[in-house]
Amino acid sequence: MAGRLKYPEHILRLKTYVPGLPIEEVARRVGMPPSNIAKLASNENPLGPSPLALRALADAAPDMSRYPDNDCTALVAAIAAHCGVPPEWVVVGAGSESVIGMAVSALLAPWSATLYSQYSFQAYVNAVQRVGATAIVVPSPEFKVDLAALRQQITPEVTLIYIANPGNPTGTLASARELEDFLEGLPRDVVVLLDEAYFEYVPDSLRGNSVTWVHRYPNLIVTRTFSKAYGLAGLRAGYGIAQQPLADTLRRVRSPFSVSQAAQIAAAAALDDVEFLDATVECNRQGYEQITSTLSELGIRFLPSSANFVLANVGDGSGLARRLEKHGLIVRPVTSYGLDEWLRISIGTAQENARLADALKSELSRGDGR
Ligand SMILES: *Cc1c(COP(=O)(O)O)cnc(C)c1O
Repeated sequence: MAGRLKYPEHILRLKTYVPGLPIEEVARRVGMPPSNIAKLASNENPLGPSPLALRALADAAPDMSRYPDNDCTALVAAIAAHCGVPPEWVVVGAGSESVIGMAVSALLAPWSATLYSQYSFQAYVNAVQRVGATAIVVPSPEFKVDLAALRQQITPEVTLIYIANPGNPTGTLASARELEDFLEGLPRDVVVLLDEAYFEYVPDSLRGNSVTWVHRYPNLIVTRTFSKAYGLAGLRAGYGIAQQPLADTLRRVRSPFSVSQAAQIAAAAALDDVEFLDATVECNRQGYEQITSTLSELGIRFLPSSANFVLANVGDGSGLARRLEKHGLIVRPVTSYGLDEWLRISIGTAQENARLADALKSELSRGDGR
């Protein structure tokens, strides 16, 4: 008998996550070798992975016939020592996206609600839609998280508030003071998920010590990742820090064996690769100058960024992204965020940034596309 598959309404409304285009795909489209393509689309580390991670992986040669350590014991111990928290407070996932998913599964249901700012990370928005919870989206007129408005919008149904700091795709930062005041003024039965995927890029002087906030607030989860500054996006490892009762609840909904052995080994070795992190942050600082000075020269508005990417108002984001492909450059349109005029550009190596600057000049000084 013919019949239609019966999907829940909230699943039918789901949109598939749109990532940056893969290098091979663009290489094929424009007929260039993959080695000539510069990907400035997914906020990856242009210097590659941490060398300590690479060495640890090579030395370990893990036995792939065995399941990985489900408790991620060595990696958890390394993160606990690095952050100065008990191991029970650390929850490891296959990327911080997976830890974010655990928070959503543990705290949201079709009868509860979450609050987040306009222009929040698409992966969070998707996770919320997956469980069918109500989303209350707070406008962000200045492209910053409006913490006062978030506070005002709390209803009895709200169990989880999501804040990315710095934000993606905006790159903007809420100050440590503002965040601390926000946490202090919050009802203790509302959990805050503070997503610090770009934590390592934020200068010390601007960075809040969010781990000390976890000590103070039992309703706070801080997430960080090995995908960005540590250069391990392809391996999938990230973590969350929360006091034990909340961390235990996240572990309850965690998919077993989700973090591979290779990811555990590499992430533990990368964690204290200070030399690599310093080089990464310095490369990013210089690249930010390089890219933003080009944008200024061209009269293109951009948002001040505390991360490893810049959001620029280029007029027609998707159109320009398409034209940049012909120069062998992949950047990220942000139409899925309702930002059709904008383009998110990840900061690359000095050479990649110079290529981008040349391509932007040739594409935008003709007066079209703006
Ligand atoms: C990149 C990113 C993440 C991290 O993703 P992983 O799953 O750890 O690779 C999380 N949050 C935001 C806002 C990001 O931009």
